[in-house]
Amino acid sequence: MPLLQVDSDGLWCEAGGFHIDPWNPVPKALLTHGHSDHARPGSHAYLAGDPSRGVLRLRLGPEAHIETLPYGAPLTLGATRVSFHPAGHVLGSAQIRVECRGEVWVVSGDYKLSPDPTCQPFEPVRCHTFITESTFGLPIYRWDPAPQVFDSINAWWRSNREQGLCSVLFAYPLGKSQRLLAGLDPAIGPLFCHGAMEKMNAVYREAGVPLPETAFTGEPVRGKSWSGAMVIAPPSAQGSSWMRRFGPVSTAMASGWMRIRGRRRHRPMDRGFVLSDHADWPELQQAIHETGAETILVTHGYREPMVRWLTGLGKQARSLETRFDAEDAE
Ligand SMILES: [Zn+2]
Ligand SMILES: [Zn+2]
Repeated sequence: MPLLQVDSDGLWCEAGGFHIDPWNPVPKALLTHGHSDHARPGSHAYLAGDPSRGVLRLRLGPEAHIETLPYGAPLTLGATRVSFHPAGHVLGSAQIRVECRGEVWVVSGDYKLSPDPTCQPFEPVRCHTFITESTFGLPIYRWDPAPQVFDSINAWWRSNREQGLCSVLFAYPLGKSQRLLAGLDPAIGPLFCHGAMEKMNAVYREAGVPLPETAFTGEPVRGKSWSGAMVIAPPSAQGSSWMRRFGPVSTAMASGWMRIRGRRRHRPMDRGFVLSDHADWPELQQAIHETGAETILVTHGYREPMVRWLTGLGKQARSLETRFDAEDAE
């Protein structure tokens, strides 16, 4: 029997008696990170990497039984030893290493290799079997360096300010928003966040991640000018009545999906900035190579192209079906 396999609730480890990122409530859930396609509520007990404690508390509620381990610290569960290692995706995100009788598997969760000042960098972990995500597993996905992307976002904000417009930038509340805040130039104007972001910003600040000062957008105030301000909001706020308070706006979205025009499935926006918290095609290749794994299981996103590419390199590779393919997540 393989060390990890998919059952009706998620990725199951018989030898250790736990699931990883299960989609149904289970007795014991090990979590890679706090995004909603990975951290589902209702399980009896959770185990995750230390820096994700605040994120998971916010996501899973005050009653959830959450234990955490420092990165790299091993814990014995049944016949296995498990440990969490930085994945570079969002605050607290982890790859999960599972060892049993000399055999080592690593479950990547979501990851990226590009630098991000809001979380610990991805750490390659040697293993026999690597379960990798493949959200952007097509050769067309190649990210520009983040500083270059931030230069264009700041230039867009500056130009909106000069035209008396409010800039509204849509991004996912966990991870992407804080990465944006860390890369924006607060000298350009005041920074405001939708309530969904402000709660997560507080968790990041408590964890010691430096973010510029932000204010909650709050209730609409008659006569208040938003000219020159930058507002970070969740994609769900697009086109809602919540937007009306800002007066004349320029809108943009920051996401890896902005790479492909045809994939701009959200309402039309003035700008799309290509910024992802997932590995692009070269990063996926590099990460897989550095594990030294001879067997690679591919999950999330473009699985088949990645399996074909790996098989062509002489590796054992196959697609691993999961409940959430999460093409729009993050
Ligand atoms: Zn994620
Ligand atoms: Zn995901």
